[in-house]
Amino acid sequence: MSYAIPPAATPVLPIFGSEMRFPVHRIYCIGRNYAEHAKEMGAQAVSRAQPVFFLKPADTVVPGGGDVPYPSATKELHHEVEMVVALQSGGRDIDATRARECVFGYGVGLDLTRRDLQAAAKAKGLPWDVAKGFDASAPVSSLRAAGEIGHPSHAQLSLRVNGELRQQTDIAEMIFPVADIIAELSKLFELKGGDLVFTGTPAGVGPLQRGDEFRAELQGVAVLEARIV
Ligand code: MN
Repeated sequence: MSYAIPPAATPVLPIFGSEMRFPVHRIYCIGRNYAEHAKEMGAQAVSRAQPVFFLKPADTVVPGGGDVPYPSATKELHHEVEMVVALQSGGRDIDATRARECVFGYGVGLDLTRRDLQAAAKAKGLPWDVAKGFDASAPVSSLRAAGEIGHPSHAQLSLRVNGELRQQTDIAEMIFPVADIIAELSKLFELKGGDLVFTGTPAGVGPLQRGDEFRAELQGVAVLEARIV
């Protein structure tokens, strides 16, 4: 067997304290996972029964910081700082009590969003793909192995843009905690080692401009420093 064209390279993330790289398979995202953010986006009531999921292509990942290109076709690029979970194994119908066994490690990332296109899609009941899954829409830090730090249930998650604090919360404020997100996703998809999960953003989302420098931090876990170019 040979390929008709050269296959695309597997997207990878660096790992703190290791020469090895983490190969990215899929990028799952949950929406409306912090009550204050759901409120600022105009959601009526946040349902514990119905998590909102969407995906980004694996090759939208921007690994470990550096330059992030301002996307085409938007006048309103928004930051959403999020804890990112990297899976080492997966499966279907994973019980929440065993979900941690699937986790390789943790990082911090931005779920970059073309907010103007998302608002237009929402108004017409259309899909979010062009608002969420564009090139370079998923800058992610190096990963911290759970074998090194365990599974954080409390940690400050924050985003500074040009030194100014824009978003801050404790990950304990998540409506669906990590184990529940994994369990819920595995009802809909067969999860695999290599999958990343963006776990939702707190209140304070807002615009990024070319030249902005941002610093996302999940305290005790990871820092991501990058610039919009
Ligand atoms: Mn998000």
